[in-house]
Amino acid sequence: MGRAITVRDMISVEEARERILSHFSRLEPETKPITDGLGQVLAQDVRSDFDIPPLDNTAMDGYAVIAADTDGASEASPVRLRVAGDLAAGYIYEGTVTPGTAVRIMTGASIPGGADSIVPFEETDEALDGPKLETEVAVLKAVQPGANVRKAGEDVRKGETVLPKDAVLHAAQIGLLASVGKAEVSVYRRPVVAILSTGDELLDVGEPVMPGKIYDSNAYSVSSMVVEAGGIPQRLGIAADTVDALTVKLREGLEADMLVTSAGVSRGDFDVVKDVLAKEGEIDFWTVRMRPGKPLACGAFSTENGHVPHIGLPGNPVSSMVTFELFGRPAIYKMLGKAGWQRPRVTAVAKERIVNEDGRRVYARAILTRNGDGDHEASLTGPQGSGILTSMALANALAIVPEDALAIEPGQQVECLLLE
Ligand code: AMP
Ligand code: MG
Repeated sequence: MGRAITVRDMISVEEARERILSHFSRLEPETKPITDGLGQVLAQDVRSDFDIPPLDNTAMDGYAVIAADTDGASEASPVRLRVAGDLAAGYIYEGTVTPGTAVRIMTGASIPGGADSIVPFEETDEALDGPKLETEVAVLKAVQPGANVRKAGEDVRKGETVLPKDAVLHAAQIGLLASVGKAEVSVYRRPVVAILSTGDELLDVGEPVMPGKIYDSNAYSVSSMVVEAGGIPQRLGIAADTVDALTVKLREGLEADMLVTSAGVSRGDFDVVKDVLAKEGEIDFWTVRMRPGKPLACGAFSTENGHVPHIGLPGNPVSSMVTFELFGRPAIYKMLGKAGWQRPRVTAVAKERIVNEDGRRVYARAILTRNGDGDHEASLTGPQGSGILTSMALANALAIVPEDALAIEPGQQVECLLLE
C-alpha cells in the first residue's frame, strides 16, 4: 500500500464544504397551502391588494363619539350622550354619529361615520361587568380626536410588499400571508434526501438481535437531521457489501435530490461504495482534516435525466452525524434557497482538557452550561470515540479544537457550535 496519509494530504472542512456545495443548487418553486410552507423560502414577493386594517376601527370596547362633545367632561360633571346604536366587530354602522349621540362599539368594529374617537367603557358609567347601556351614556373624561382609533392601512398599505422573495416563512410570516388573503404560497421545494446504509453487519430495527450484527443507527440519526434541516428523507434501507446489492439499492434513490450513503468509504476490504459509485457516476474521496469523520466521499450518481449529487458519510455513528452536520445540512439549506445554515457559535470556558492528537480540527461533543456570572462553560460528554453515539445524545454543542492547537486546557476559551 502507499504511504500513510498526513495532514498535508487532507483538505480543510471549509474546502470540503465548498466543493460539496458546488454540486447543489436551489430547487424549483412549488405552490402549496400556506401552512405547508412553514420553514420554506418565498420564491416571489408577496403584495397586499388592500389596506390592513381595511377601515378605521376601534382599538377598545367603548363608545364612538365626536371628541368635541366630550370637552370638559369629568367624573364630577359627566357629559351625557344619547346611545344611538350598538356595533359589533364585522359590521358597518348604517347611520351617522351626530352631535350629542354615541354608538356603543366593540374592538375591531369600523368607526361609524361622523365619529372621530372612542371613549373606552372605563371612562364611562358603563360598568365592565354591568348591563349594557341602552339609552344614555355618561362620559367621565374628555377624549382627543383620533383617540383609540386604529387607522386604515396602519399595518399594511394596499400595494405594499409585505414579504420579500427569499423571506423564510415562520409563524408570523404565515399569519401575514393569511392577513393579506393568500391561501397558497410559492416557495422553493424541499429536497428529497435518499439515505442508504451499507454494511453486512447491519440489521434494521425490528429485526431480532444476531451475533456479530449491529443495528443500523445512521439511517435514523441522519434522516432525523434531514427533517430538522428542512428536507424530506427517503430511507432506502440497508445494502449488503456487494456491488450488486448496493447497485440495486442505490438505483431506488435516483429520483432524489441528494443521495447520502453511510460507511464503505474507508479502506476496508469490503468497502464497495467507492467501486459502485466510480462505475455509476463520478466520485471523489477526500480525507478531511477533522475528527471525527475524516473519510468522506462526494460525487454524483448518473441517472437517465442527469445526476444526483452524492455524499458518502463515514460509517461510525458519530462521524456520520458530525459530517452530515457540517456538509449535508448546508447542502439542504442551499437547495431550500435558505441562507444562514451556520449554527450559532459561543465562546465558552473549557472545564476540562480537550486534546487534539494529530493536527486535525476536533469537533468534541460538549455540554454547554452557564455559570452564575452568565458565562458559558463547556465540558465533554465523556469518551469521544467516533463509535460512541451516546456522546452525541448527551451533547448540546460541538467544542472546536483548531488544527494547530495540541489541546485546550481547563480554563482556556473554546469556541463551540450550538446544536440546539
Ligand atoms: P466502515 O466505514 O464501513 O468501515 O464502518 C465504520 C464503522 O461504523 C464500523 O464499526 C461499522 O460497523 C459502523 N457502521 C457502519 N454503518 C453503520 C450504521 N448504519 N449504523 C451504525 N454503525 C455503522
Ligand atoms: Mg463497512
